[in-house]
Formats: sequence, C-alpha cells, structure tokens
Amino acid sequence: TSKLTTRKFDVVIIGAGGAGMSASLQLANAGLNVAVLSKVFPTRSHTVAAQGGIGASLGNMAEDNWHYHFYDTIKGSDWLGDQDAIEFMCREAPKVVYELEHFGMPFDRNPDGTIYQRPFGGHSSNYGEKPVQRACAAADRTGHAMLHTLYQQNVKARTNFFVEWMALDLIRDVDGDVVGVTALEMETGEVHILQAKSVMMASGGAGRIFAASTNAFINTGDGLGMAARAGIPLQDMEFWQFHPTGVHGAGVLLTEGCRGEGAILRNSNGERFMERYAPTMKDLAPRDFVSRCMDQEIKEGRGCGPNKNYINLDMTHLGADTIALRLPSVQEIGHNFANVDITKEPIPVIPTNHYQMGGIPSSISGQVVVPDGTGAQKVVNGLYAVGECSCVSVHGANRLGTNSLLDIVVFGRAAGLHIIEFNNKNKEHKPLPENAADISLERLNRLNSAKTGEYAQTVANDMRDIMQQHASVFRTQASMDEGVVKIGKLRERVGNITLADKSNVFNTARIEALEVENMIEVAQATMVSAAARHECRGAHSVLDYDRPADDPSCPLGRDDTNWLKH
Ligand code: FAD
Repeated sequence: TSKLTTRKFDVVIIGAGGAGMSASLQLANAGLNVAVLSKVFPTRSHTVAAQGGIGASLGNMAEDNWHYHFYDTIKGSDWLGDQDAIEFMCREAPKVVYELEHFGMPFDRNPDGTIYQRPFGGHSSNYGEKPVQRACAAADRTGHAMLHTLYQQNVKARTNFFVEWMALDLIRDVDGDVVGVTALEMETGEVHILQAKSVMMASGGAGRIFAASTNAFINTGDGLGMAARAGIPLQDMEFWQFHPTGVHGAGVLLTEGCRGEGAILRNSNGERFMERYAPTMKDLAPRDFVSRCMDQEIKEGRGCGPNKNYINLDMTHLGADTIALRLPSVQEIGHNFANVDITKEPIPVIPTNHYQMGGIPSSISGQVVVPDGTGAQKVVNGLYAVGECSCVSVHGANRLGTNSLLDIVVFGRAAGLHIIEFNNKNKEHKPLPENAADISLERLNRLNSAKTGEYAQTVANDMRDIMQQHASVFRTQASMDEGVVKIGKLRERVGNITLADKSNVFNTARIEALEVENMIEVAQATMVSAAARHECRGAHSVLDYDRPADDPSCPLGRDDTNWLKH
C-alpha cells in the first residue's frame, strides 16, 4: 500500500452521470476540491440513453400541480415509496427543470415558448382522473441533452474528471467512517488511493445482471458491489422494473414517450387490449401493470408473430411528421434493430429489464443510512449515495417514467449542498487506515495469480441466465428459491475466475472480472430479497401470492384499474 500514489480531495464522486455531475457542479461552484471518477467519458454515462423526459409539474397547465405528481408517484410506487422524500422531489422538480433550462438545456418548446411536456405512464391530473402532460422533453433524447448540459457546466466550474478510472473499494476507518476510495487507472493498470472527507456513490444501475436489458454494458452495479463488500446492506433489491417496450430480440428501449405521443399496444387480433385492463389510463398505466398485461396477453395466446411471443407497438397513425419531430431516435431504432419503418408498420416489443428501484439506502440529503442494530438507523459518516445506485426511496416498488431523471438531479443537487455544509464544519481529513488498499490489492493479486479457473464472461453469462429465469416479470416462490441456491453456487465460481490476459494496459478482461465481482453481490441480494417477499407488490409479481394484505387500508384508495389476477 505504501507504494501507491495517494491523492487528497474534499470530495470524491464515483460516477459522471446525471446524479454525479449534478452534485459535482454544486461542489465545484462552491470552491471545493472535487474529483469525479468514471469508467467512461462523462457524456457516455448511461444517463445519455434516457429518451422520454424529466417529470415536473410546471404549472403552465391549470390542471397540474406538485400534489398530483406526489400522489401519482406514491401510487405508482405501489404505496411503498418514502412519502417525505417523494414530497421533496415533486416540490423541487420545477426548480431543477428551470435550472437546467438556465444552464442551456435544449428542451423542446411549445408555440408560446414554454417547455414542451408530453404525457407519460402513471402521470395524471386530479388524482388519476386523466393523463397529464408532465414529461419535459428534448425530443426523444432528453438524457443526452441533460448530460451534455451538465458536463459543459462542470467544465466551466473546473470539476476534476478522472476518465476511465474504475473505483474498486471503499476505505473505512476503525469508526466505520468512509475516508476514501481505491481506484484502478484503466489505461495503465495502476491502483491509486483517493482520500476524501466525503465519498459519493453515483455509479448508476446494474441492469447487466439480466440477460435481456435496456441497460448499457457499463451498468454492472459497481457501487452496490463496493457498498456490499464494505458491509453496507442494500435495500429493496427485489424490485426491478421491466419496461413494457424493449425491442423484441434486441432489448433496446423504445421510450414510453411513444405511448405518450399516442402509440398503442396491440395484440394479435389488432385489439388495443389496455382498454380492457386500465380503462382510464389505457396504454399509459404504470409500467409494472402494463408489462404484466402484455405478459398475460401472450400467455393467453394473443401474442403476435409466428411464435405468438411479442406484442405490437403501433405508431403508424401518428404521422411521419410527428414521428420525425418528437421521436427521431425511435425511428432510427426501428430501422436499425427491428428492420421496421415505424411510420408504416408496428414494431414488435416485449417487457425488458430496465431499472433498479432498490440500492444503497440513503436519505433526502444523500447520506447513507443503515440499521444500527437496535431498530434505529445511523448515518455512515463520509458516505453519500445518489441516483440509480441509491434507494431514497422515491420509487418504492415501481418507478414512474420521467421520475429517474428527476431523482438524479434533485438528489444529486441536494447531496452536493449537504456536503458543502459538512465541509465548512470539517476542515481536516480523517487519517487513512493502515493498508487502506488491501482489499483491492488482494482482489487484483488473486486474479493475477489464478492459473486455472473460468473466464469472467462464462460466469457472467450463466449469472444473467439464472436471473432471467428466476427473477423476471412473473416469479414463483419455487423458482425464486431455486434461484437463490443457483446464485449461491455461482458465487463460488466468481471466486475462481482467471484472466486470459494479465497485462496492465487497458486490460478489459481484468475490468470484466472485477465487474462480475460487483454483479454477483447485486444478483445475490436480488434473489434473496425476492424470495423473502411473500406478496405481490409493484414490480415484484409472484404467481403464488395475492395483492398485499394491507391493500384495503391504503389511505389514498386503490388503483383505478381492474387489478389483473394473474
Ligand atoms: P448513470 O448515468 O448510469 O451514470 C453512472 C456513472 O457511474 C457513469 O459515469 C459510469 O462510468 C460510472 N461508474 C460506474 N461504475 C463505476 C466505477 N466502478 N468506477 C468509476 N465510475 C463508475 N429515466 C427518466 O426519468 N426518463 C427517461 O426518459 C428515461 N429513459 C431511459 C432510457 C433508457 C434506455 C434507460 C436504460 C434508462 C432510462 N431512464 C429514464 C432511467 C435513467 O436514465 C437512469 O436511471 C439515470 O440516468 C441514471 O443516472 P445515474 O447518474 O444514476 O447513473
């Protein structure tokens, strides 16, 4: 350890997506010495893929205000979201959207110059009465526009970026406080220690634990793996969102903005079947519900195509002009991934793994909070978590579309402001423990010295198949129990991975092996949590169980849709 280079910062942020860069902007503008680490160039972070929009009740339409957004989010979460956190997020939403606008984010415009908003699943006016336009959009490239805007602002603020640096492990001292992080410089293979008064996880999602996912290859749950290895429990890991409209066979996402603009889901009879299941919200019912309805149609033999195994998303009635203006990327995706001209024919879709509702437990100010062993909670000093890797929890058992882009900006910003306050009171760094990098060095040494064993890719593929088979849209108790055993066994194989290539310079085999060590933590937490939840709740849909026992006593009343009995 003594030979490793150590750098000192006020704050180290792991992740340069929308969450990390919202935080770093506050910090750099306040004059703090902030380092942002990213496995990829900042504008290639996964936020760039977000298409449909960021949710905010802007009040430019008489029928919308934050109370409705608040209600929809709680209802969408299947009543499991943290209501204080949801209130904070929905009240902050207009402020952060206007702040992004002032930073130069190129939102689409209404004829009167105000920000263009489209309807989105589960977002309603007057407590579920009718769909409302709440998703602030930049065509179907909202995340792209947001990420570039935040990056430009960070460059102006002189944030220090460490690009293609992979964070490896948290450094905790004897008090359990987080005092730094180790990282691998991917270009050279060198390990570094970054000492900090605060470390922030903003490392995004982990969709790559599933075989079919809308997520990029970098979404391997590194922050969750790091937290778990450092003894921090993960929360709500059974809740994974399956987006109704992944391109069949390709996994690539078609934004809910398609349905927001009027696209319709049809079964093999050409029927708009969502009218039967959700008479009010129809195709724009919450995602967990729509995904289950699609699955039901397929199970009952009304799936489309020769194998009756997908649903058609029909946009042909929208017109080529609207599609070119509002959904240009979707049109490209149709061509490139389904060989379909969406202006002329429907595109085959299937529910696809998309988003992780659970994560590192955190508070409204981004501080990581864990059980203290007496039934109460305590803060892990020096550690923050924001964005998709965190669980505040504003999404509960099911996230509404547009609420993630909102979550990352609202809580990234809030955590940044909280750290500024903390930093003003704490002028000194806590000392690093002896052998601060030991855990990381042991991991790397094991990989370097293993002469026999399996390659990371083989183990990763088997893990993805297990997750797909045992923790997908519909689950059964027996299948989840079996999944727990299989993942437990697979974990042993992770400890036995060997590298085809042991060189130092940009060794992707080593990076992949380190990522598998993170993914197995996420996969195991998911399987174990799923098997332990004996009810149907939001995205956790188990054939053996009914709706939650607390259903009738729900203070805000039940869903307006006819609940789908499996
Ligand atoms: P990310 O943007 O994923 O950033 C993670 C960062 O962490 C990256 O910089 C990465 O390099 C870094 N990182 C990870 N591990 C390490 C490591 N070990 N060391 C160093 N750096 C690391 N939500 C909406 O609200 N509206 C939408 O329209 C929408 N559309 C979507 C479309 C698609 C296709 C997908 C997949 C998601 C969509 N979402 C949408 C969800 C939303 O985009 C994400 O939840 C959100 O952008 C996540 O942001 P983040 O900042 O938490 O993480």
